[in-house]
Amino acid sequence: MEALLPFVPYRFRPDRKPPYLRPWMVPQALWGRNLRALLIKADWDRIRKDAYDRSGSRCRVCGGRGPKWPVEADEGWQYDDTTRVQTLKGVISLCPDCHAVRHWGKTMSSGRQNEALAWMCEVNGWTRAEAQRCADDAMDQWHDRSRFQDWKCDISWAVKTYGVTPIEEGDAIAEERNQSFVQKAREQYGSQGNHSSFINHLFYES
Ligand SMILES: [Zn+2]
Repeated sequence: MEALLPFVPYRFRPDRKPPYLRPWMVPQALWGRNLRALLIKADWDRIRKDAYDRSGSRCRVCGGRGPKWPVEADEGWQYDDTTRVQTLKGVISLCPDCHAVRHWGKTMSSGRQNEALAWMCEVNGWTRAEAQRCADDAMDQWHDRSRFQDWKCDISWAVKTYGVTPIEEGDAIAEERNQSFVQKAREQYGSQGNHSSFINHLFYES
């Protein structure tokens, strides 16, 4: 069993406890700053395909596969709220349903939060109220972290593990993507009052 553990989805591992799946939102200052922006396409493709191969193209959380394509690559970021550094810890395969929970802001903005809440209940064995509380906490945390513009991004895990070199124009590409995502969020939420926690920062603090 020990030897098999790395291949068992988190949801079924005896050494793991719920939540197996919860929203994990990227602070606004870091939107767009990811391996896709910071590496050449061939390097990013190699890293994400390696994640798919390691899991047999199954979701690392639930073991499932999506109906149109089986899995997507999810970057596992750790956040240090004191130094404000976002550190890449690994890249894993997630099915589209689990991935949608992780990227909660994007899921909310496309109106799919009810399905995502239901999936969080299913995977974690939670009630709807528990899932909603977890999502609300994630949103509060996102809001706290998004008050700061000086977040740094550390992708040395990818450099060490795969021998890749970040591209020179990566910072500029990431910055451009960040601006475009922020603009889209403003356009989408600017006239609505019911997503105030999502946009307070965008309009009233920056
Ligand atoms: Zn899954």
